[in-house]
Amino acid sequence: MTKLYEGKSKICYATDNENELNIFFKNEITAFNKLKKATIESKGVLTAKISNIIFKYLEKNNINTHLLKVIDDQNVLVKKLKMFNIEIIIRNIAAGSITKRLGIKEATTFDKPIFELCYKNDDFGDPLINDDHCVVLGLTTLEELQKIKDITLKINNLLIDLFKKINIKVVDFKIELGLDSENNICLGDEISPDTCRFWDENNRKLDKDCFREDLDDVTSIYSIILNKLEGIKL
Ligand code: ADP
Ligand code: UDP
Repeated sequence: MTKLYEGKSKICYATDNENELNIFFKNEITAFNKLKKATIESKGVLTAKISNIIFKYLEKNNINTHLLKVIDDQNVLVKKLKMFNIEIIIRNIAAGSITKRLGIKEATTFDKPIFELCYKNDDFGDPLINDDHCVVLGLTTLEELQKIKDITLKINNLLIDLFKKINIKVVDFKIELGLDSENNICLGDEISPDTCRFWDENNRKLDKDCFREDLDDVTSIYSIILNKLEGIKL
């Protein structure tokens, strides 16, 4: 297969169909804009399986996602999207960069979800941008941005409902959206403990913070999330 793009945690391969991609989930894990890196056996399988369960659940609940077919434990066939060059973040509870940037105490629950946008550019450290930057710099149109907010808040509610079933709090997450061949906004990339913060009822961190902060073994923490998701009926 022809490699089209290799990122920090996934590889995109071309397929026979120009509107489709094969995405491979790598075992590499990175944090702090690649300053911290490791290779963890079975990480790719865990993030792929978790993301596939979540994407299937979202699709069932009327969210347009890129997922076409699970090929094997580490590969998925997806619709090739024209990605918006933004990272879309929702915060329900304070953690990570917002605690440092705004001095908010970790674990503070917000009255309503906070919607953030970052310009997807590793050279500049994915800087936070506002609606005007997004529209004036041509990353999305104003109409697309409004739709992106609506879709993202809907995804947040669905994720909160899903994770409530397994007693896990959705603290924050990042998603990436793009346009499909019919110009519909579609959820791409992945949703997994690599891209979300998940806390159990005792605020134990069940996500990439276990790697960022050297708290726990990634494989066992990600396996907790996968086993719990596999144990519920969706
Ligand atoms: P990064 O680029 O941040 O290092 P990854 O290693 O996850 O991230 O690489 C996956 C890349 O594939 C990302 O740049 C993402 O925007 C892109 N991508 C994800 N899903 C799709 C899709 N369905 N169509 C086109 N590109 C996609
Ligand atoms: N996130 C991500 N990719 C990024 C930046 C953030 O998946 O390039 C996720 C991160 O895992 C967390 C949420 O987005 O769930 C908010 O991240 P934050 O801004 O707090 O950044 P961090 O503390 O991870 O640097």
